[in-house]
Amino acid sequence: MDKQTSILLLGAGTFGLSTAYHLAKAGYTNITILEKSSTFPPELSAGNDLNKILRAEYEDPFYAELALEAMAAWKSPLFAPYYHETGYLLCNSAAAPEKSKKSLQKALDSISQHPAFKNKITPVISRDDIHKVAPAFSGPMQWKGYFNSFAGYASAADSLMAVYSACIALGVKIHLNSTAQALTYSGDICTGAITAAGKHYSASMIVLALGASLGSILPQIKRQVVAKASPLAHIQLTPEEAARLRGIPVTYARDLGFFFEPDRRTNLLKICPSMAGYTNYDTSSGLSLPPDDNEFIPAVDEAMIRRLLRETLPGLADKPLIRRRVCWCADTADSEYVIDFVPGKKGLVVVTGDSAHAFKMLPIVGKWVKNVLETGRQENARWRWKEGSDAAAADISWRVGQTMDFKEVKDIRRDPKITKAKL
Ligand SMILES: Cc1cc2nc3c(=O)[nH]c(=O)nc-3n(C[C@H](O)[C@H](O)[C@H](O)COP(=O)(O)OP(=O)(O)OC[C@H]3O[C@@H](n4cnc5c(N)ncnc54)[C@H](O)[C@@H]3O)c2cc1C
Repeated sequence: MDKQTSILLLGAGTFGLSTAYHLAKAGYTNITILEKSSTFPPELSAGNDLNKILRAEYEDPFYAELALEAMAAWKSPLFAPYYHETGYLLCNSAAAPEKSKKSLQKALDSISQHPAFKNKITPVISRDDIHKVAPAFSGPMQWKGYFNSFAGYASAADSLMAVYSACIALGVKIHLNSTAQALTYSGDICTGAITAAGKHYSASMIVLALGASLGSILPQIKRQVVAKASPLAHIQLTPEEAARLRGIPVTYARDLGFFFEPDRRTNLLKICPSMAGYTNYDTSSGLSLPPDDNEFIPAVDEAMIRRLLRETLPGLADKPLIRRRVCWCADTADSEYVIDFVPGKKGLVVVTGDSAHAFKMLPIVGKWVKNVLETGRQENARWRWKEGSDAAAADISWRVGQTMDFKEVKDIRRDPKITKAKL
């Protein structure tokens, strides 16, 4: 590639935006993004959320190192306003299954001897230990785990907005309300994409950063990635309630769920229940793909959210939930990303397989994609296209519980009045 090479990115979510940013910063002058959503941050992006956990512990030390690199980048001028180092309380409740305990132990092992975490980790074996880092928590919490002070969260939608503005300033052309419907080819060369409105965009290099929707454009990805949904909901706190929770660590009971410091602008408390993810298989294609309606959560997940609150903040456990929704990610069998050329096609690259853990990589993931585009190959075997791998059949080590398809879910909960207001 030279710096004038035309590059077409499909999807302006976490991966697509970071890729555009790194390419534009490196001097590439002809970058276009097509994004399905009509507003930014994209309604459909998994990254369009109040907040996301930034932590470096992983079951796999390879990702722990990458997350450390990302956390350093979160302290750079573009990202620093959106990073809040509140610390991270990671525990298991008394009733946690063995799988959840093993996952926590592996995560702790990845950082406990690491010099970056010297004096940053405190064991948690009692309710008193939790009170030391979260005095406002008044529930029973018979939890065990640890507190890591070198972690926190990102204001997610706001940071996407900052990267979007940086991309525009660097000359990236971003077309919203532009749904890519099909790729176009000349022989085995990918020449561009055609939108639902019938407009053709041609380019020399096409990068698919479509998150959970990748299969709709590239069915040959098959089950290397499986779209999986995670529910989330919010509670609107009063200013007084929010003030009491100011500065709490990101709190994650591996088998119950997690929540964050209330959003500093809106006083919304975001809560995610622990679960293994939902699929939405389409019987004709055999692929799990996000549906159009995502503004609900299964009743069992609402019950789990209330259980988590009864354990920690019982005074909030019966408050109305609002902005209930499910958010879609792309799981791989081994939770590794796939950043590679599509075999048998020239000029076509996928960046996918976020496996619900990639928002923290927003500042750096685009660098890895740029490297693949420039070298013409994926040097890292972990992130290569893995023909035949089946994420649907895999037992993901860190996911607690049983994956279900939405067809099996009978009881769902919606907001009484669906609010579409931007977070
Ligand atoms: C509930 C939840 C909590 C999470 N928490 C964390 C966390 O705490 N920490 C963390 O690091 N990660 C977290 N994640 C994961 C993180 O959000 C994802 O890994 C990351 O956002 C994935 O980025 P992506 O670019 O692959 O997908 P997305 O951000 O979803 O981007 C895909 C984009 O493609 C667009 N698109 C789709 N189809 C088309 C089309 N046909 N044409 C054009 N555009 C299209 C979509 O609108 C979207 O903007 C969480 C995810 C969820 C769901």
